[in-house]
Amino acid sequence: MEPDKISFWRDVLMKLKIRISNADFITWFKNTAVLEKRADGVLVVGTAIPIAAKWLKERFQKHVLESAREVSDSVTDVIFEMDSKLATPGDVRIIPIDDIKGPEDKQKTRKVPRVAEFKTEEGLTSKILDAKYSLQNFVVGPANRLAHAVCSAVSVEPGRKYNPLFIYGSVGLGKTHLLQATGNAMKKRRDDSLIIYVTAETFVNDYVYAIKNRKTDQFNDRYRRVDALIIDDIQFFSGKDGMQQAFFHVFNTLYDSAKQIIISSDRPPKALDDIDKRLKSRFEMGMVTDIQFPDFETRLAILQEKVQVHGVIIDTRVLSYIAENVTESVRELEGVLMQAIAEAELENTTPTIRSVDRVLRKLNPEKFVHAAIEELPQTPQRALTHQDVIAIVARHYSVDAQIMLSEKRNQEIVLPRQIAMYLIKSEFRSSLDHIGKTFGGRNHTTVLHAINAIKARLDSDRNFARDVNALRKEMGR
Ligand code: ADP
Ligand code: MG
Repeated sequence: MEPDKISFWRDVLMKLKIRISNADFITWFKNTAVLEKRADGVLVVGTAIPIAAKWLKERFQKHVLESAREVSDSVTDVIFEMDSKLATPGDVRIIPIDDIKGPEDKQKTRKVPRVAEFKTEEGLTSKILDAKYSLQNFVVGPANRLAHAVCSAVSVEPGRKYNPLFIYGSVGLGKTHLLQATGNAMKKRRDDSLIIYVTAETFVNDYVYAIKNRKTDQFNDRYRRVDALIIDDIQFFSGKDGMQQAFFHVFNTLYDSAKQIIISSDRPPKALDDIDKRLKSRFEMGMVTDIQFPDFETRLAILQEKVQVHGVIIDTRVLSYIAENVTESVRELEGVLMQAIAEAELENTTPTIRSVDRVLRKLNPEKFVHAAIEELPQTPQRALTHQDVIAIVARHYSVDAQIMLSEKRNQEIVLPRQIAMYLIKSEFRSSLDHIGKTFGGRNHTTVLHAINAIKARLDSDRNFARDVNALRKEMGR
């Protein structure tokens, strides 16, 4: 490993640290390294966690690219790849994450001018619609039903009934998802329609760039040509008077020609500070609707949706536990889930209530006062007896421990019973006879058969192996 890659990555991590939250930084960049700096400027970043490569791309690509470009202009793109060797303790490529010190006192805000230059070079469509957001994969519940319905209507008949459409709600509740999904749906219905999605921040940056370079005509022209203009986080306009004026004109042109305008904000139009009254009243001319934090059932359904997208299998009780304990934003809901999956993958197990509880506490050390773990059924610190193992397995599979010891041979009881036998054998090295006795006087050949059945399945079924590993962890062994 060339030292220049390591020191380069160290510099990038230092820049990155001030852009993202500390919890994200530690979780996602812990076992990362630069695998390659290609001649065409593409930086290949490796991670030890399989799911992290995808997640890093979705969530942090922009931040990593911006940080890397601050260190070296020659970087053109960043891609993430999985490299399981990075999980090996002592891998020389890994920089201990605690060693990375961001400059103190520096605010977490991004440097706007730099972003502006970077964006505008790519042109207005740099922030294009992201195909992963759709109206179908947006889970609907009482808290967001109206917003979703209106977006669906708009996607079918843009510029008609609900114009402008103004959606507000606090951070992480799905505004961006809905806006992007609506744009995607419009595009799908009419492929030739010109739809522009921009954050208000990008809009401002474009405008500033246009003024600086005397290209305001082009700016106006570009925005006025669209069939639909989607502007995310409009509160960013507050206090920027020149900007608001420019937008006012764009708005009127589009509105008068029945082009759809969709706006999101963290608060209702009336509550927007330092925004021109004329603009605010324009925002109220069409449909104004809010998104609230979803109820428990919707949160659970959202988690199930995300689990499916990421192709993993997680016990519903574990998901319920997350849904119960995350009470502020859907983004956090997803974040906890992803961290739990990442940690479990690193240890080759599946997330358990305990591991999820740890993630929750780590993310919210001060807020998370919920007596969570105390409310869990009592588990011994470490499984010391056969009965402890049986209790843990029984709880994991929601079956009665007593029935596991009985003669009953129905499907839902046979597997947990066999797993318990297997775990007892491998952890306690008990004799087959002894195990047989524990399970209501069964014959040693029955026990042997059970253990062999589990061994065979462990070899062929990765998800099953994870489940069993998770149980082993629950046993504290
Ligand atoms: P906002 O823009 O309001 O801050 P986002 O749209 O970025 O929030 O949502 C945060 C995350 O939560 C996204 O990954 C989004 O897909 C997800 N999300 C929010 N609400 C839902 C929902 N009802 N169904 C599915 N995913 C959702
Ligand atoms: Mg958003």
